[in-house]
Amino acid sequence: MLRGNLGAGKFGTPEKDLDELRETFSYIRKRVEPRRVLEEATVVAQGQQKATDSTGSGTNNYAEFDITKILKDEDDGVPEFKRDPSQPYSLGPNISDWDEQRAEWLKKNPDFPNFIAENKPRVLLVTGSSPKPCENPVGDHYLLKSIKNKIDYCRLHGIEIFYNMALLDAEMAGFWAKLPLIRKLLLSHPEVEFLWWMDSDAMFTDMAFELPWERYKDHNFVMHGWNEMIYDQKNWIGLNTGSFLLRNCQWSLDILDTWSPMGPKGKIREEAGKLLTRELKDRPVFEADDQSAMVYILATQREKWGNKVYLENAYYLHGYWGILVDRYEEMIENYHPGLGDHRWPLVTHFVGCKPCGKFGDYPVERCLKQMDRAFNFGDNQILQMYGFTHKSLASRRVIRIRNETNNPLEVRDDLGLLHPAFKAVKV
Ligand code: UDP
Ligand code: MN
Repeated sequence: MLRGNLGAGKFGTPEKDLDELRETFSYIRKRVEPRRVLEEATVVAQGQQKATDSTGSGTNNYAEFDITKILKDEDDGVPEFKRDPSQPYSLGPNISDWDEQRAEWLKKNPDFPNFIAENKPRVLLVTGSSPKPCENPVGDHYLLKSIKNKIDYCRLHGIEIFYNMALLDAEMAGFWAKLPLIRKLLLSHPEVEFLWWMDSDAMFTDMAFELPWERYKDHNFVMHGWNEMIYDQKNWIGLNTGSFLLRNCQWSLDILDTWSPMGPKGKIREEAGKLLTRELKDRPVFEADDQSAMVYILATQREKWGNKVYLENAYYLHGYWGILVDRYEEMIENYHPGLGDHRWPLVTHFVGCKPCGKFGDYPVERCLKQMDRAFNFGDNQILQMYGFTHKSLASRRVIRIRNETNNPLEVRDDLGLLHPAFKAVKV
């Protein structure tokens, strides 16, 4: 990776890399280490817990370092940009001819087609998490597992990934942060046909399932959900915004503009939350969230948006973890990857677990245990290509499932995931 980024110019052979690294490290060590080492030795000798001092040399012990020391840009005294409160919130300058602008760009840039094969749109999977470390000590480990899982699925399916950790608009913190980000990415990447938003607490559990792209050719917005629950019941869980597809077009910019006004944090978001709780079925009392806002928009403006929205439930574009995780063994027993539905769910989404937060809506033990199981369930489909599998869904350890061979190219790739047809380049 490093080599790829730096280019071969500076570092030649691997040996040379190592030499340079060694030199650099010993140089640094010569200049600054001795004092620090001495200091720490003294501290340890005295059996003290605190090894830091105000001059900034500090401890070598990560476990005892207070991370808040270096995370202080929140209160750096620089005032946040304040929007004129008399003006309504806006995601950005008005754009009304995006389809024309984009079509022209695509014509001028034939090397960046928005379809990479027939019925195979160019897709960018977008996910992200807060700029700060998680509020609990294991949260970042689960974020790492979750992005590893997405990297695996996307590599197999020829999808690019954007991981965002920047809060692009301070007013749109939390679950609303995806809106300004999505608009920015659509406008910056006209070559992308579909943007796929996926929450950080959702994982792919079917590595072989390819989305049925041709099914969406006349639609711009695909979410997991049910027409009756949205249009008849106005149920706040009639769709889920943790994993959805949005086409890069003017219609999508327009629905983002319609979606965003309930997002600005503070009074606007709180008041909007009251409206949503009043209008939607079974919604608890809390500030406005992006999912409820979308249910409300579709339920109240069906004529305007409904014909371009596809509510998918033939497979799990989003799958609620509560009804899936206890059935993984049964699935392994009876079915195989590639089905995407209740037999082998494409996505398992840990709604309400808040693995990066302090408090969730479910017992932490169940959430973490089941997130590990979902990860291993998906990871097994990757490891099996290389002849390994997890000892059990609860285990980090792996075991071999076949002997090594001197004919490595002849091993059977049962799921066809080493060289999947949906990734093949058409010449
Ligand atoms: N998120 C983000 N930045 C933040 C906070 C959240 O990008 O500062 C994203 C993250 O991917 C998270 C998603 O917003 O998964 C939605 O929140 P969450 O999954 O906790 O909501 P739930 O699915 O439980 O309703
Ligand atoms: Mn989520």
